[in-house]
Amino acid sequence: MTTYLSKSRYISGQQCIKLLWFSSNGVEPPQKMDDGANDRLKVGEEVGNMAKKLFPDGVEIDYNMDAVDLMIEQTAEAIVSEKPIYEATFLADGVLVRVDLMTKGINGWDMYEVKSSSNLKKYHHEDAAFQWYTLSLNPKLKMNRAYVITINKDFLKNEYENINSLFTLNDVTDFVTNEARDIPEKIHAFKEVMNQNNVPKIEIGPHCSKPHPCQYMKDCWGTYGNDSIFNLYRMKSKDKFDLYRSGIKTFDQLPEDFDLTDIQMKQVQSFIKSEPIIDRDQIDNFISQINYPISYLDFETFQEAIPSFENQRPYQQMPFQFSLHVQHESNGKLEHFQFIAKHGDDPRRSISNELLKNIPEYGTIISYNQSFEINCIKTLARSNPDRQDELLMLNERFLDLIIPFRKGYYYHPKFNGSFSIKSVLPVLCPNEPELNYENLNITNGGDASLIYKNLNIINADDYDITLSDLYAYCRLDTLAMVKILEHLTSINIENDEL
Ligand code: SF4
Repeated sequence: MTTYLSKSRYISGQQCIKLLWFSSNGVEPPQKMDDGANDRLKVGEEVGNMAKKLFPDGVEIDYNMDAVDLMIEQTAEAIVSEKPIYEATFLADGVLVRVDLMTKGINGWDMYEVKSSSNLKKYHHEDAAFQWYTLSLNPKLKMNRAYVITINKDFLKNEYENINSLFTLNDVTDFVTNEARDIPEKIHAFKEVMNQNNVPKIEIGPHCSKPHPCQYMKDCWGTYGNDSIFNLYRMKSKDKFDLYRSGIKTFDQLPEDFDLTDIQMKQVQSFIKSEPIIDRDQIDNFISQINYPISYLDFETFQEAIPSFENQRPYQQMPFQFSLHVQHESNGKLEHFQFIAKHGDDPRRSISNELLKNIPEYGTIISYNQSFEINCIKTLARSNPDRQDELLMLNERFLDLIIPFRKGYYYHPKFNGSFSIKSVLPVLCPNEPELNYENLNITNGGDASLIYKNLNIINADDYDITLSDLYAYCRLDTLAMVKILEHLTSINIENDEL
């Protein structure tokens, strides 16, 4: 099959010519697309189909890479008909493009690139410029304007809202016409890369994750140890690469006067001494803020580009599940409550009612990275005006369990610069199978969200098992908080006994 320079290859070349070479020479990426990436593709398709409704009664050019000539012929016929065209296909000078939408106006043809993102990004402009340039090579087309269609994040689904307002049309004509001047040179260079025999020599850099995480990172990056400067907590990517390029790759190579933040300093010292650094007074202060009963709370959420429910916005976090462990006194028994909303219903009413039924009326609410849970509760409050006050009062009671770690009261060398609950728990509570995320069928929130979204297509035999997997994942998040707080408290008790 002929290897064309398609838009996706052009985008790869813009990111990194080594990536372009890999992808156009049949090199299998070591990292397969995960379920999240597949879901993003599916969402892109849904958004693309919805955007066609902006210009109804168009002609669809069906995808068939074994019959490129047919796609081009059908496009030529559709151009003559002057109807809107979906996926119009053009081939010029070895460059193959498929344009999401095209419409004919009195001044010529407009082209539209559809993105499922709610923000217009630089690479969206560049995609459009590549399409525009290829269309401009076609003598039968008089082009008028170029647009990138993005999702309008302020869209609120309700009975009055027209679906057209789900989209924002961004006019990028000035950009694409200016950019088109540089494109022939880039196309020429990319074609040469695709056809060369050897892998281009490109060093790793910030481009490996921008604008998209590269699927070949395992090949190019290899593995690096816990003392790699790439693990330094919250250091800008550019600064890490400045160090890397100057030959500084591990903590012990950092110059003594190198400007590290307090946490980065603790990270380096703790690694070198191979022991945790603990500020017991600060941990004591943190624990002294806690009032019983303690409610350990965690939500799982889903997001949708195209809202399903009334008063839902695109990409709004929609809580569909919670886990709540309650401890009434120090070392007291744990009570556990959990809930998953019925799939297909707006979850915000039922989850609010269940939460308010079970959460104690007073005492501290502990979460890990509390802004997420606080925002979930704000979402619930907005959609339940009759329970708004009760819900918002919960937000006055939060204490964030990530604080002792993020503020450096407790740094352990095995954290490797990450304070996520999945980094902290196994270090503080090793060898406890019940607390090991790896022993679960669902191991992260992204997967939980995807599985919930697809509950309607799970077969009946697997349904109950899937539901219990969802419960188990969320339950571990709150049990993890219980154990982490127990561990912090035990440090304090040991301290008092000294
Ligand atoms: S990992 Fe980085 S250097 Fe390697 S192909 Fe991808 S973008 Fe290029």
